[in-house]
Amino acid sequence: MATLVQVEQLTKEFGTVRALADVSFTVDAGEWIAIMGPSGSGKTTLINILGGLEMPTSGRVRVDGTDVGKLDERQLTRYRAEKIGFVFQQFHLVPYLTTLENVMLAQYFHSITNEAEAAAALRRVGLGDRMTHLPAQLSGGEQQRVAIARALINQPKLILADEPTGNLDEANEQIIVNLLRELHAAGHTILVVTHDPMIGRLADRRIELAHGRLAQIIVFSAEDEERFDHLLEQIWICGEEGITAQVERIRTLGSVDPVRTLGRMADLRLVEVRDAEARLTEHGSNRARDVIRRHRLAERLFTDTFAIPDSEVHSQACKFEHIISPELDQKICTFLGHPKTCPHGNPIPPGACCANG
Ligand code: ADP
Ligand code: MG
Repeated sequence: MATLVQVEQLTKEFGTVRALADVSFTVDAGEWIAIMGPSGSGKTTLINILGGLEMPTSGRVRVDGTDVGKLDERQLTRYRAEKIGFVFQQFHLVPYLTTLENVMLAQYFHSITNEAEAAAALRRVGLGDRMTHLPAQLSGGEQQRVAIARALINQPKLILADEPTGNLDEANEQIIVNLLRELHAAGHTILVVTHDPMIGRLADRRIELAHGRLAQIIVFSAEDEERFDHLLEQIWICGEEGITAQVERIRTLGSVDPVRTLGRMADLRLVEVRDAEARLTEHGSNRARDVIRRHRLAERLFTDTFAIPDSEVHSQACKFEHIISPELDQKICTFLGHPKTCPHGNPIPPGACCANG
């Protein structure tokens, strides 16, 4: 996967205000990243620097091979026009121009006016029947869709959206969220600043800022977390069986893109990958033990209490293991009398509750 955005030790100061402090991360082409964090944490500053609207105080920002901090005014204008599609919280539509004309105005700035293409862009965001409306005749969600159509006309490498649903009601928000999903599915790279937990969950990754710093290096989506758990389980089971966790073996067990997932897990210091073999770190080992425990406790519960057939027990437990809290884990364990093995005879790692049980 190609890296599209590379942010290295980025710092931005406005006088004595430090809006961003030593922020580093990368984004792959095709990724959808949600940038979250409280008001004033530097989200807009980050988006503006990536989009070439502000200059970094120090550090480096590369987008699609361009070192944005090194560009002069003219080069910045070209960079924005060629590589970036902006979507703002305020839609910034020209009130006396129709929907179609607003999109064509943006084309004009890119010197590519083409009515058919502008109309196609509007149809793409579901506004084929609103071409001749003025912004005031559109709902907030529709106005934002015009803004997105406008952002797409230059086929930007990177879509930057700053709280695109911030001014919308729930129904319109859902429409924009669906549109972001479609753009992501079509292969666009999207960085979206948002307070919306729904967008946070749908994105591939979340980047959390606090006081201009990365609060968490990178927080992964729930889906990623589940992938991590499944790989941790597989590596743990290899350990139980006394065999090495070869990356190749994990691959054949059917994980989605295990090399990439293992790379992220290495970033989080859950595993170390050496000589094509994955090993659990202490941190990874603790987490793997907890997942294995939840999985096998769930299997026990389903078999003993609900008499769920063996053929279904594993897949049910795979779902359940992600939603059992530590408290529920202990309650189930105590309820079952602190079982030592799962229905298939594999050991259930003891929990805190087992010591006094
Ligand atoms: P967010 O988008 O997360 O709410 P911002 O990036 O807008 O945060 O702002 C981060 C910090 O930088 C805030 O303290 C804000 O007041 C300050 N800041 C942003 N832009 C400017 C500016 N042009 N001049 C001075 N201070 C600014
Ligand atoms: Mg902001």
